Amino acid sequence: MLKHEIIPVTPFEQNCTLFWCSETNQAAVVDPGGDIEKIKAAIARNGVTLEKILITHAHIDHAGATKALADHFSVEIEGPHKGDQFWIDGIEDQKQRFGGYFSYATKFVPTRFLEQGDTVGFGNIVMEVYFCPGHTPGHVIFFHRDSKIAQVGDVLFSGSIGRTDFPRGDHGTLIRSIRENLFPLGDDVRFIPGHGPMSTFGQERRSNPHVSDRALGLS
Ligand SMILES: [Zn+2]
Ligand SMILES: [Zn+2]
Repeated sequence: MLKHEIIPVTPFEQNCTLFWCSETNQAAVVDPGGDIEKIKAAIARNGVTLEKILITHAHIDHAGATKALADHFSVEIEGPHKGDQFWIDGIEDQKQRFGGYFSYATKFVPTRFLEQGDTVGFGNIVMEVYFCPGHTPGHVIFFHRDSKIAQVGDVLFSGSIGRTDFPRGDHGTLIRSIRENLFPLGDDVRFIPGHGPMSTFGQERRSNPHVSDRALGLS
């Protein structure tokens, strides 16, 4: 069974998530943006063994501590999609822009970039990968079909959607990612967004002011 604990990290309260397999206690951390001691504490507290790091996209609050965590636990890094290479290269610039807090942040080299249709595994858990560009050009999300839970990074939030005013962001692409890749997974899918509270795809399809059926003139 898939278990999870959300660990808000950085001044952006980014929802880094520890996922683990309850049968093997093998775990994956999604989006270790910072506060590495909090992440290590969650791993220890739950008595799990970190097997890999998964990255939705390479913004500093999601990926800044990737290398430090990967080096500490000697684990592999899967994701994001190769379209985010320029954001990985730009982690140093992002660090300058946000000043002191992110001084720990460093570039990292993914063991494996991800594509639509890939899967990622830890213990007995397999999560499906969906390519959801728009917020960044290499954004992916992770979906566990058995427990109907998704980690969607900055694609979709409860009542909002990701910003698209960054370099190579695109609003139309983001809307298509949500409508064509996320919503078909099912109204009853619960998702962990990159920031803020969880919601369901059904709730957002009904009421999200940016991407609901009504907002797009579909009902
Ligand atoms: Zn982002
Ligand atoms: Zn974010």
